[in-house]
Amino acid sequence: MAGKNLLEKVWEKHKVKTLPSGQDQLFIGLHLIHEVTSPQAFGMLRQKGLSVKYPSRTYATADHIVPTDSTTRPYHDPLAEEMLKALETNTKEYGITYFGPESGKQGVVHVVGPEKGLTQPGMTIACGDSHTATHGAFGAIAFGVGTSQVRDILATQTMAISKPKVRRILVNGTIPEGVGAKDLILAIIGRLGVNGGLGYAYEYAGEAIESMSMEERMTLCNMSIEGGARVGYVNPDEKTYAYLSGRPFVQDFSAMKAFGEAIKSDSDAEYDDEIVFDAASLKPMVTWGINPGQVVAVDETLPTVESLPKDERETAERAYEYMGFQPGEKMAGRKIDVVFIGSCTNGRLSDLREAAEVAKKGSVAADVKALVVPGSQEVAAMAEAEGLDKIFSKAGFEWRNAGCSMCLAMNPDKLKGRQISASTSNRNFIGRQGSPTGRTLLMSPRMAAAAALAGQVVDIRSFGGNS
Ligand code: SF4
Repeated sequence: MAGKNLLEKVWEKHKVKTLPSGQDQLFIGLHLIHEVTSPQAFGMLRQKGLSVKYPSRTYATADHIVPTDSTTRPYHDPLAEEMLKALETNTKEYGITYFGPESGKQGVVHVVGPEKGLTQPGMTIACGDSHTATHGAFGAIAFGVGTSQVRDILATQTMAISKPKVRRILVNGTIPEGVGAKDLILAIIGRLGVNGGLGYAYEYAGEAIESMSMEERMTLCNMSIEGGARVGYVNPDEKTYAYLSGRPFVQDFSAMKAFGEAIKSDSDAEYDDEIVFDAASLKPMVTWGINPGQVVAVDETLPTVESLPKDERETAERAYEYMGFQPGEKMAGRKIDVVFIGSCTNGRLSDLREAAEVAKKGSVAADVKALVVPGSQEVAAMAEAEGLDKIFSKAGFEWRNAGCSMCLAMNPDKLKGRQISASTSNRNFIGRQGSPTGRTLLMSPRMAAAAALAGQVVDIRSFGGNS
């Protein structure tokens, strides 16, 4: 009999029963909540007179609406203040651990979970945010869920869900210098399409994945949802255990490691599908359109609409019209107005280190506004201990407080008008960065930092700085 993959093993261990709808009722080991998608869910609990089933498996932080330039309360935006107060009240009333802005432990929920050691191999994890797949980097099965599911999990610690198929994405070879996890996931989405993963979990495997750090694996898994996959994961290995060792919520390291070894995919596991990528052929990637699948290597020309698959042509036409770009042009040389380095995709210490290495090579171009927003207060503290904040400030970047910031601009950090942003976040949808007509180019932290200095999109592999 063939072996099993990680998703099958984790599913078996967490499935409560098959529901009449045909979906499975799945036990959720860790529920992460934040200020935007939880207030209504708590309201529904109150209406029904229910309590939180497992407060000890529920952790909260504030990220989406938190201002990054001032920590003074009450917040200038009354709606933001109201959301934060609701989270404070709800966590207090239901006995939920809360990493708030005054705790020194606050940050983007997908940065906070791993750095505290809450995220562990073999867990089922849910959070009311699309990019929960990030936690799959640790061999967890992690779902982004909606508000009604947040309510269900608060009340029962379970959710109704269909088991996805599993596609193994095998990345062979070595990733070249100047290219990283962000480029890889953008290349994967570019090849398979934004709907290519529908109905699937993505298991990332192969030499290139094994050689990645945990933070790179988080970047990779984070954007699985952008390729349509329900979840993305990497099998746990020694790097996973080393990362988690000594973290505050890892109480029994040996048991955690033993469980990780038990649930990882068997060498003879079967998959519903397999796709192979060659890491050596990867180049720095930049999006040109209005979804993350509209992406090219920095030195490639933009595709003609006719060269694209039929089901992508209409969106491509809309993208060209909205972005004001033309087929046959290159992204290299495209002028930018704003740079955003941060988010749950690329707001971790290694991302900031990579960007700072580039920032050392000069100064932010005169007409560019560049923000560096650490993913969490702990990331900020570590970066400051290394002097990264000073490197950024000296080069003309604004060093901000932790939060989601311009990833989706629910706080005051927003594009204005038709501005073009070079962004390390994960979505380039129309209006995503706060201006209904603003434009977003997704790229890696190195590429974004180089764009800040050059005032335009440049190829990091040949960028020497501007000092
Ligand atoms: S950084 Fe962006 S994608 Fe990540 S949790 Fe915040 S808003 Fe969501």
